[in-house]
Amino acid sequence: MSFKSLGLSEALLKAISKKGYETPSPIQEKAIPPVLEGHDVLASAQTGTGKTAGFTLPILQLLSQEAPLRNRPVRSLILTPTRELAAQIYDNVREYGEFLNLRSAVIFGGVNQNPQIATLKNGVDVLIATPGRLLDLQAQGHLSLNKVEIFVLDEADRMLDMGFLRDIQKVMKLIPAKRQNLMFSATFSKDIKKLAHGILNNPVQVDATPENSTVDAISQKVYRVAREKKTGLAIKLISEGNWKQVLVFTGTKHGANRLCESFEKAGITAAAIHGNKSQGARTKALEGFKKGTVSVMVATDIAARGLDIPLLPHVINFDLPNISEDYVHRIGRTGRAGASGEAISLVSADETSFLLAIEKLVGLKLPVEIVEGFEPDPNASTKPINRQQEAREFRKQKQREASKAKTNSNSSSKENSTEKKRVFTNKRR
Ligand code: ADP
Ligand code: MG
Repeated sequence: MSFKSLGLSEALLKAISKKGYETPSPIQEKAIPPVLEGHDVLASAQTGTGKTAGFTLPILQLLSQEAPLRNRPVRSLILTPTRELAAQIYDNVREYGEFLNLRSAVIFGGVNQNPQIATLKNGVDVLIATPGRLLDLQAQGHLSLNKVEIFVLDEADRMLDMGFLRDIQKVMKLIPAKRQNLMFSATFSKDIKKLAHGILNNPVQVDATPENSTVDAISQKVYRVAREKKTGLAIKLISEGNWKQVLVFTGTKHGANRLCESFEKAGITAAAIHGNKSQGARTKALEGFKKGTVSVMVATDIAARGLDIPLLPHVINFDLPNISEDYVHRIGRTGRAGASGEAISLVSADETSFLLAIEKLVGLKLPVEIVEGFEPDPNASTKPINRQQEAREFRKQKQREASKAKTNSNSSSKENSTEKKRVFTNKRR
């Protein structure tokens, strides 16, 4: 099967071959024809299977078939949950659309809105956006969505997980009732089906998730370890294995920061990527990681979702996710594009129930190892940890440390001032 036989135009085929793609991926093969025919499409395939091109290519073709409207109102709106994803889709749209006369733009929060407003003023055919900033700019009157012909919800499952349902519903009210709808998701939960029912009109449903495909291609291993020894074990595995390009998942943002600091102290270059980081810091971290100047990226599930990081040899679950599907997404980051990968989970007693749930989902009993010096604690409780509780305790501890530091710095500034006085008095004498 070739891209040409899917009915794509010469201009798109040229851009595709420039990008180096030879054949369409299974989800592209299945999704592109119905989108070109104008159907609503509900598509599901795992992370890393090329869903972005599955909707952007046919959209670009459909839009370029008609003359641009006067003032170039938004004709296709692509909603996506995170800033990184929005930026990645935008990059793809620009690359695929290189030989077409279409304008695209991306808007997301966390950065100055003025350049985005200026771009919108010039007219934009394809707009990629995160919900918050989109609704903001619309409310301020900088953007009208009443000419949208094609609406896309990308990473719909994550949108729901991140609590964007209300925002999605608000956006739906701003776009015309008659339009083509596309929904892409890595998973097909009950909630996704319900959302799809509310948005899509008689959709063609395409699914390209081969049973357990990722799971088979990836070597998975569990290290049973005491919770307080996890950091040491992660450092040992990474440095002794001389691993480069490791993606480490933690359950919380503070956990990501703390782990990053420990890696740096151990001489492993690391960067954290999560929702509390500024856009600049996140982009820089991702770039460093892709270039290889940063060996380890520590991420939370939400921040990592949909990130396009090809060829990742190692994924470490520093904490096990309490949502089993997240495990599948996480390990899907390794062994992309047919390369082999290794996924390692550090599991403490309190995560036993999460492990059992994951094994049930993937239908495998994961092999367990114990490293000398990093044994599990036989007396530790198997009661599941409460991550929110853990985060609260961490904040309290930070506050205590901060107030202690403040007292110390107060006394040291007092010392400084007496010293200054002394110098001063000496001078006068
Ligand atoms: P998904 O949205 O399913 O997680 P992406 O759209 O981010 O996946 O694509 C994952 C990677 O695969 C990207 O680096 C993309 O450039 C690459 N890719 C997409 N389609 C093809 C293709 N047909 N041939 C080769 N690589 C592709
Ligand atoms: Mg995607």
